[in-house]
Amino acid sequence: MEQLPPVCDYEGSDYRARFWEGGARDYEDRVERVALRRLMPPVGKTLIEVGAGFGRLADEYRGYDEVVLFDYSRTLLREAQAHLGDDPRFIYVAGNWYQMPFVAGLFETIVQIRTLHHAADVPALFRQLFRIARPRSTYVLEFASKHHLKSVLRYWAKKQTWSPFTLEPEEFVELNFDFHPHWIREQLKVVGFVPGRTLTVSHFRLDFLKRTVPTQALVTMDSLAQLTGNWWQLTPSVFMRNRHLSIGETAEPGTFFACPECQTALPEQDNELLVCSGCGRRWQVKDSLYDFKEPVP
Ligand SMILES: [Zn+2]
Repeated sequence: MEQLPPVCDYEGSDYRARFWEGGARDYEDRVERVALRRLMPPVGKTLIEVGAGFGRLADEYRGYDEVVLFDYSRTLLREAQAHLGDDPRFIYVAGNWYQMPFVAGLFETIVQIRTLHHAADVPALFRQLFRIARPRSTYVLEFASKHHLKSVLRYWAKKQTWSPFTLEPEEFVELNFDFHPHWIREQLKVVGFVPGRTLTVSHFRLDFLKRTVPTQALVTMDSLAQLTGNWWQLTPSVFMRNRHLSIGETAEPGTFFACPECQTALPEQDNELLVCSGCGRRWQVKDSLYDFKEPVP
């Protein structure tokens, strides 16, 4: 097997309970939804959320016929399954984003929120996403920006050694990166995406504000401030809408999954298995979870 970049593993994690429950991130959750609704086509055929976790945003995808919730963590996908019930539009897929298990030109919409900071090899990930996107599709990307007001002030006050102005990614904890918006735009263009509308999000992610100002007021102010995102980016979170080119491959009707190792289109599942006719590897489907993390021995 070729050497892939390292992946941040949330297997067995209590991420949902630890990070999202209890209301402390109500503000972030709401302003992210505002930005997503502004950038994502509301209806369509096939959507994938890359790094969907426990499905926090799944209710935003009601207008789509098929919704793939893709994550590296089976544990988080099982949580998503438990709270979304047996809605047949949701497809749960575990795998490595450097080897996306889908045929080329499949998705009309790709959404990726709060996960790019775990990407050690952004160009490799963008190449995969470009491959599975169909012509004229939309890729809504959120990333953590290193070029935000707090880091600029801290840098000027000499309380932070790294510069928020340099383009290279900043790895502040192992496998946790902040990115410069210009650098992200350049990487998107290199693989073929056309970066478009940008929204800045979470202007008021400051504990004392979240404690003292009603959440609804902060959400309203942030919703307005987001609209300046095309001109300057000084928030910890940036949303970008990117377009796929108008040319390229469109998936053949009836094809969907492809072998992550050799990219051969996979046939329908048989007896809880997808068997690759290209390399012979077998991939498991168990209790409606497609598992492409490793082949069945
Ligand atoms: Zn194969």
